[in-house]
Amino acid sequence: METQIGELYEQLGHLKNDLSEIIEENHRLTVENKHLRTYLKRDHVEEEKAATKKKQEVTVPGEGFDNLARIYKEGFHICHMQFGSPRTDEDCLFCLELFD
Ligand SMILES: [Zn+2]
Repeated sequence: METQIGELYEQLGHLKNDLSEIIEENHRLTVENKHLRTYLKRDHVEEEKAATKKKQEVTVPGEGFDNLARIYKEGFHICHMQFGSPRTDEDCLFCLELFD
């Protein structure tokens, strides 16, 4: 009986060690996960930026003035400053310069 209690006590000690290691590892993984998510998100944003830029490069020189005018009428900037972003109701002076 006494021996058994001794063994159980020892096992309990091991379990406690394991548990604290698991908690530490969990914490480490949580931090790492957070970093990776931030990294992925930033990567994704960069990708979207690149895609938008590519789109602009394809649209602007290739399809000509009519296309730009159409895009402007549909409510998007065609100026360098804000190309492709939605316009407010007012005309954009930079965009209008392109029509002159
Ligand atoms: Zn504009």
